[in-house]
Amino acid sequence: MIRPICRMGNPILRRTASDVKMGDIKSEGFTQLLLDLRDSMKHYGGIGIAAPQIGESLQVCVIELEKFNRYGEEIHLPFTVFINPVVRVLAPDETGYWEGCLSVPGLRGFVERPQHIMVSYVNELGEAQELEAKGFLATVIQHELDHLFGKLYIDRVKDPTLIAYQEEFDEFIKSPASVE
Ligand code: ZN
Repeated sequence: MIRPICRMGNPILRRTASDVKMGDIKSEGFTQLLLDLRDSMKHYGGIGIAAPQIGESLQVCVIELEKFNRYGEEIHLPFTVFINPVVRVLAPDETGYWEGCLSVPGLRGFVERPQHIMVSYVNELGEAQELEAKGFLATVIQHELDHLFGKLYIDRVKDPTLIAYQEEFDEFIKSPASVE
C-alpha cells in the first residue's frame, strides 16, 4: 500500500526509532510494513525509504538501486531490507553528493559523508548480514540510516549556500551526482 510521506516538521522524523524485535520480523504486520515501504518508495520515485518517513518509528529502511550510474560508478543493489542496521566507518575520507529526500521535497543539498563503510543488519528472513559499501552507495545507506536516528540530510549540509530548489539545481548546478 502506498502511504503518505511524513515531511520535515513532523516530529516522527526527529525521533530515534525503536529496534525491531526479532520475533516480529515474520509477523503479518511487519511483512505488510515492508511491502508498504517498497510500494511507497517506487510510487514516489525514491531509491531508498525509511519506516519513519511513512509514519512507523521502527529501525527499518529499504534501498533499491537498479544499475545506477553516477560519476561513472556502476552500482547495483537489488531491493534490500535493512533491519536494526549499524554502520561502521572503514575510512574517514569524505566525498560530497547533492542529496534529496522524499521528506524534504523540492530541495537539494550538498552533503559530505565517509565513502567506505560496513553496515551490519538483519534481513527480512531474520538473518544477520554485512554489506561493505563505497562511494554513492555508502552515501545512500548513510542517508537512509540517518532517518532511523532522527536526522535529515539538511542537518549535515555544512555550507548553507549549497542548498537549492530542484528547478534551480537543474538549471544552474546540475552535476552527475545526486541522491534521492
Ligand atoms: Zn531521506
